[in-house]
Amino acid sequence: MDTYDGILIGAGHNSLVCAAYLAKCGLKVAVFESESEIGGAASTEEFLLPGYKSNMHANFFIGLEDFPIVNDLELSKYGFKWVTPEVQHAALYRDGTSVVLHRDVEKSVSSISRISKNDAESYNYLFERYAVELGPLLRSFLFHAPLSPEEIGNRITGEKGKELLSFAKMSIGEAIDTYFEHPKLRTLFKLFAHAITVEDEPGTGMFLPSLFSSQTTLGLSVGGALELPKSLEKLIKSYGGEVFRDCKVEEVYRENGNAGGVVLENGSKISASSFIASGLNAPSSIRIAGEDAFPEEVNEKMNNWDWGFHSLMTLHLALSEAPKYFAEKYDPDVAKSFNVIFGADTDEEVSKNTEERRSGKFPSMPMGNGACNSLFDSSYAPEDGHVAFWWPGAPYRIGGDSPEKWNEIKESVTQQLIDIWSEYAPNLKGNIIRAAKLYSPNDLNIRNKNIVEGAVRMGAYTSDQLGVNRPHPLLSGMRTPLEKFYLCGSSCHGGGLNGAPGYNAANAICEDLNIDKWWTQVPKPFLEN
Ligand SMILES: Cc1cc2nc3c(=O)[nH]c(=O)nc-3n(C[C@H](O)[C@H](O)[C@H](O)COP(=O)(O)OP(=O)(O)OC[C@H]3O[C@@H](n4cnc5c(N)ncnc54)[C@H](O)[C@@H]3O)c2cc1C
Repeated sequence: MDTYDGILIGAGHNSLVCAAYLAKCGLKVAVFESESEIGGAASTEEFLLPGYKSNMHANFFIGLEDFPIVNDLELSKYGFKWVTPEVQHAALYRDGTSVVLHRDVEKSVSSISRISKNDAESYNYLFERYAVELGPLLRSFLFHAPLSPEEIGNRITGEKGKELLSFAKMSIGEAIDTYFEHPKLRTLFKLFAHAITVEDEPGTGMFLPSLFSSQTTLGLSVGGALELPKSLEKLIKSYGGEVFRDCKVEEVYRENGNAGGVVLENGSKISASSFIASGLNAPSSIRIAGEDAFPEEVNEKMNNWDWGFHSLMTLHLALSEAPKYFAEKYDPDVAKSFNVIFGADTDEEVSKNTEERRSGKFPSMPMGNGACNSLFDSSYAPEDGHVAFWWPGAPYRIGGDSPEKWNEIKESVTQQLIDIWSEYAPNLKGNIIRAAKLYSPNDLNIRNKNIVEGAVRMGAYTSDQLGVNRPHPLLSGMRTPLEKFYLCGSSCHGGGLNGAPGYNAANAICEDLNIDKWWTQVPKPFLEN
């Protein structure tokens, strides 16, 4: 039987981050991935045509330049590079106008002023307060196990703290409506937030300051999102660790009542002397570890885990030229924008879209964001081409049907989405599309078993599944009631493409093993004025 100090289940970027930190501590680690490629939802494929690279899931690295993982692990030495476009977001409207958000706040303010002077002031205020002044504090929240409400109350005090905590009582939609009055600005932020949560979800207001802390730092991984996991794999191997593909973990077995090792699908048993960390979603992790190791309240929550209803469908296009938007006449910077948002002009349209998806209907007005990555990194497409995608939200089950229904409607939905996109980018009506393919919420789950019910965040962001409740108060510190068994996946606090759960698990494991950390942990959030 093979023996390691530590075993990681799944080779999504979070498990790989955890493995990388611990391999650098001198521990002998092994990562087991069920699929033939690593990376999980950080995946890149030539999905359309040879030479056209599509990021199949995550595309936007939000706040990458501040992630401890990039600097601590010196990932550039292992091949990971990224670009951060100067023009970050463009929201497009049917009347040909737009709002463009830049890295340079003054340029953003001037773009918003053309639509609403008051909203430009609000933007400036929120940016200065939450991206500049409290930005480091907000970003540090991610890189710690969630603070208890009591600890938050003790650590975040004073007037600024009071203002920050006031967001927690609102939905993100209410927070947006509090600061912005023009429907064009409201739809911009509500649609951007749709990839995280829906605007009317109670208790999600803190996402607004958190979005502001990093919303103009969206990065694109050079060569594809898969380059991040590949660089982590290189690092792990250089420190003596191993990463195995096509090795599905079936169960965690126990030794003296603690997590002792894993059993693979082929029956082999692999033992771990110090720890096992699961990068799978929380319900799968608990199932694999054995429900009898957890109190009833944990099992009950896992059995009723809310995957959410806001999945994404992706229209991928291979093109002979980049989309040219009507709105470029209004603001030429639209042509240079990384994240492009369109499909809604008013709050009512956004709310209707949410209601339709909530009740399992295909949206009557698809809306969402997307990008033409080859404009920012030429390695995404051949010299004479471009590759682009658009991500409107959609339910996993349409009309309560089996998700297989998506296969029947793929062709017509592809054409419908091209038609809508062409209303904003008229050159798509010409002969410039070389290939078009829809990647549905059903495909998400087929490609990555960790994305249950098309849940892009491995569990909805509801107040019952956020903060110390994510995934459950007894599991939110990455440790679990089963000794030596840890969680390190995106159902934990801080999910998304930032490695936070992997980083937080590595910190917990190091502390439990009394190993000196070779890195300096991000300071704990503290605000007293
Ligand atoms: C369509 C889409 C768009 C997104 N866009 C963004 C974005 O732009 N920005 C952002 O920050 N986030 C985005 N996200 C979210 C982000 O991609 C995920 O939160 C993150 O990548 C998840 O990483 P992970 O390591 O926790 O899990 P995963 O990447 O899902 O990794 C889990 C791994 O475990 C493997 N596995 C499953 N079962 C087993 C088993 N039994 N044994 C062994 N291995 C197993 C899986 O194959 C997978 O490789 C998006 C997600 C989706 C789906």
